[in-house]
Amino acid sequence: MYSKHLLSKSTFVRGIQCEKSLFLNRYKPKHKTPHDSVTLDLFNKGRDFEALFRAQFPDGIDISHKYGKLISKYASHTESLLENNTNITLFEAGILHDDVLVLTDVLHKEGLSFTIYEIKLSRSLSDTIKWDLALQYHVCKSVLKNIKAFNVVLREEDNKFNIIDLKDELEEMQTEVKANILKFKSVLASKSEPSISMGPHCNKPYACEFKAYCESNINLFS
Ligand code: SF4
Repeated sequence: MYSKHLLSKSTFVRGIQCEKSLFLNRYKPKHKTPHDSVTLDLFNKGRDFEALFRAQFPDGIDISHKYGKLISKYASHTESLLENNTNITLFEAGILHDDVLVLTDVLHKEGLSFTIYEIKLSRSLSDTIKWDLALQYHVCKSVLKNIKAFNVVLREEDNKFNIIDLKDELEEMQTEVKANILKFKSVLASKSEPSISMGPHCNKPYACEFKAYCESNINLFS
């Protein structure tokens, strides 16, 4: 069975940075500038840190190993594994709710309760990390119901893990998360590009991949 989704955690975080970027990512992806080598290097380091943390769960099943880029199959396979196992750990478990799909880094089921770990290379908690987790918490709690802890795993000296349970803080963000989901769905449903001027948000928290596109449009009309 396939599942379709309108938003993911990466598109949600993209929308928080800029609604125009969210729109362009869906409708004009060919105008993206490829990531530079520094950014690609960071992605690789992030993946290495994830693997280091996941090694603590030697029986963990990685959904991405079975389905690779077939993201639409992750949610139904996850559902079936959770239904048929009392205790299980999944990597990249797909959870779908209300057209929003999240892939959790580590999802551990023990009896009827669930513990989630989201792994970040960062040493500190940024607003972007909190938004990312708040969306995941919204989707996971809607589907799984009994969430014991919702953790972020940050990097400390010598690749040690700093595990913080953010469940209570994420709960407080839920009204805003739901409002943003509605807003971003309406941006994606619209046929017109949002009119947003360039500014400091184009580099915060990331250098936007559409800077060249937006700059060229400024030059066109100036
Ligand atoms: S360059 Fe700036 S204005 Fe343009 S899409 Fe990106 S964040 Fe938005």
